[in-house]
Amino acid sequence: MHRLYLEPPLQAGVVALGPPALRHVRALRLRAGDPVVVFDGGGGQWRARLGDAGDRVELLAFEGVEREAAWEIELAVGMPANERMDWLVEKAVELGAQRIAPLMTSRAVLRLEGERAERRCAHWRGVAIAACEQCGRNRLPQLRPVQTLERWLRGLPAADEAARCLLAAPSQAQAQVLPLARWAAGLPAGQAVLALSGPEGGLDDAEIGLALRAGFVPVSLGPRTLRAETAPLALLAGLAALRA
Ligand code: SAM
Repeated sequence: MHRLYLEPPLQAGVVALGPPALRHVRALRLRAGDPVVVFDGGGGQWRARLGDAGDRVELLAFEGVEREAAWEIELAVGMPANERMDWLVEKAVELGAQRIAPLMTSRAVLRLEGERAERRCAHWRGVAIAACEQCGRNRLPQLRPVQTLERWLRGLPAADEAARCLLAAPSQAQAQVLPLARWAAGLPAGQAVLALSGPEGGLDDAEIGLALRAGFVPVSLGPRTLRAETAPLALLAGLAALRA
């Protein structure tokens, strides 16, 4: 069944398709009367049918279907350059990250500020929507604005004091590094997790110091140095496998 994202809030009845959904409908060559599933990213989905002109849908029945991860994970990443960040966002959504924070760190190749940063974030939101349409998630992960690591740490809401925090650290870089499975042992369902992973050149000593002082625990994903886009995904997949 094809899935379409429409901007919230949705209610039973006939709803006009916005330009992205219309493009999607045309690309899929859907026709009037075809059944589709529609969701607005806030949870649950609608069984729906394309209207006569193919430019609207009729929402028929709401279904409280959820496909979220066992833990509420915010993934903060030193942004890798080029299309690697698109790839990271797509896969992180598939693997259940609930929030993604793109960070500018001292050694990051990609530098984004102002309007350019906003345009990239809007683009990544589109990537996240397409990933939700494809993988069946009905809750659209939040994309935080591009910011420095320091600012991200300072801006974490008080509710996140209860979060368990981990810093992906190549084992040779830190003396006290826990394997992921040991770090995650006994985490209760629904636990808020803040996961931080560095850019191509890694985090510098000052940034690692900041994270450690903020309570982040260095965690290893194995003996090999993973690329900046591979490490966060290995982390999410590793956590998902522990709850499977
Ligand atoms: N030379 C850099 C360093 O030592 O940090 C390599 C950076 S690596 C390409 C990018 C990021 O992925 C690292 O900053 C770290 O957060 C994460 N990472 C890579 N391999 C890892 C591993 N085996 N375990 C945990 N984290 C890893």
